[in-house]
Amino acid sequence: MDWDIVIGLEMHVQLNTETKAFCSCKVSYGDTPNTNVCPVCLGYPGSLPVLNKEMVNSAIKLGLVTHCHIRPHSTFARKNYFYPDLPKGYQISQYNDPICYGGYVDIHINGNSKRIGLTRIHMEEDAGKSMHSEGGTLVDLNRCGTPLLEIVSEPDMTSPEEAYAYLTKIKQIVRYTGVSDCNMEEGSIRCDANISLKPKGQKEFGTRTELKNMNSFRNIERALKYEVERQRAILESGESIIQQTLLWDEQSGQTKTMRTKEDSHDYRYFPEPDLSPVFVDKDWIESMQVTLPEFPDVRKQRFINDFNFSDEDAGVLTSEKEIADYFEAVLRYFNKPKLVLNWVRTEILRMLYETGKSISASPVSPEALARLLEYLDKNIITALTAKAVIDEMAASGKSAKTIIEEKGLEQISDTGKLETLIDSIFRENEALTRKLKEGETKLMGFFIGQVMRATKGQADQVLTRKLINKKLGL
Ligand code: ADP
Ligand code: MG
Ligand code: ZN
Repeated sequence: MDWDIVIGLEMHVQLNTETKAFCSCKVSYGDTPNTNVCPVCLGYPGSLPVLNKEMVNSAIKLGLVTHCHIRPHSTFARKNYFYPDLPKGYQISQYNDPICYGGYVDIHINGNSKRIGLTRIHMEEDAGKSMHSEGGTLVDLNRCGTPLLEIVSEPDMTSPEEAYAYLTKIKQIVRYTGVSDCNMEEGSIRCDANISLKPKGQKEFGTRTELKNMNSFRNIERALKYEVERQRAILESGESIIQQTLLWDEQSGQTKTMRTKEDSHDYRYFPEPDLSPVFVDKDWIESMQVTLPEFPDVRKQRFINDFNFSDEDAGVLTSEKEIADYFEAVLRYFNKPKLVLNWVRTEILRMLYETGKSISASPVSPEALARLLEYLDKNIITALTAKAVIDEMAASGKSAKTIIEEKGLEQISDTGKLETLIDSIFRENEALTRKLKEGETKLMGFFIGQVMRATKGQADQVLTRKLINKKLGL
């Protein structure tokens, strides 16, 4: 029997605001436990929350770039449950009237584009963190009250691969808007995945399971693949799926039961009496709209149209806002897009990888790269030299000009000098030279290599080839 896969994802994104959602405590990862706390986020009786406007700004921005409706009037609600890392006994969240609803994102998979609906994006606060160890459990309340946006998708995904593409897309969009750094290791982006199967073509959805708190997109994809097979086996043996929450065990590569529906939560949501409703008017929305950078897909298309780049090249450049920004900054100093593309895509990304730096903190600035590429473009240095100069620039902070002049790295295009060198290489390799003259052209590479070696990569390659050919009488 054939089955349709149905997947819907809930993502939590931790916002990079300076202070918490409802108090002025600092939002900071890795500080000494229980130091960024106050009566409000510790839930002392009588303390009152005050809404952080930046959280609303972030929600509006993310809502705008995901084509959501922004609700003019939304309220907060209390989500009640007991947990040791939740001293208030409830989380402030939104329930019936989330600030954003009815949006979508487009994902691209195997060359096809597919639209995934967004049910809602709502604001809520995070709980604290329990750290379990052999000696017992410790609680750090620094995270209590950290602002979050929860993004809930429609059950529109039909394969684990689509779920992976969707997650990657959301992360890219969130990073572009700048509302979160999306650092998975620090838990600033988290995901719960809901999945069910139904007989092919059937309208009605099957019973779903929910996979909780996975720490990498690849693990989510893996867990979903496992879950498809597990559910299929159960359904094909004539049994039914139990609605439950599962945990993914990376070690065994299996899902494990966390809780079943019988003990599922009743959160007893009710309106938060200590916070007034949020009114968002057109002016507020417009003031957020103007802060938004160009959307990744739009920028990618612009690169394809303006510079005639391939889909893949434009995709790499716009995969992160910082890479695209860097690329365009170089163009402002040196307007040869194809050349800049090649050097950013290969050598700059390689250098950053090797030095462990991010592109926004690149030790070779856009202007510095532009100056180097001018030397290359004017044939003053060779490509091989330019590569070495990039590393030297990154290590020493010196300009291309200084390095090239100090080390005398100019390309050798002096015909006389090169001819003398070629003659001596011919003499040193008599046997091979004879073969070359007899027509074994594949030896050409060897001779050019010898010239490059003798000149530490500085010989003009095109000229060298020409001169060798001339000597062979070709
Ligand atoms: P809850 O709040 O209990 O998790 P929701 O109705 O808000 O439940 O749904 C959460 C997520 O589960 C959404 O992303 C939704 O698209 C998805 N979902 C709902 N029903 C199914 C189903 N039968 N199969 C797969 N995903 C589902
Ligand atoms: Mg859920
Ligand atoms: Zn506080």
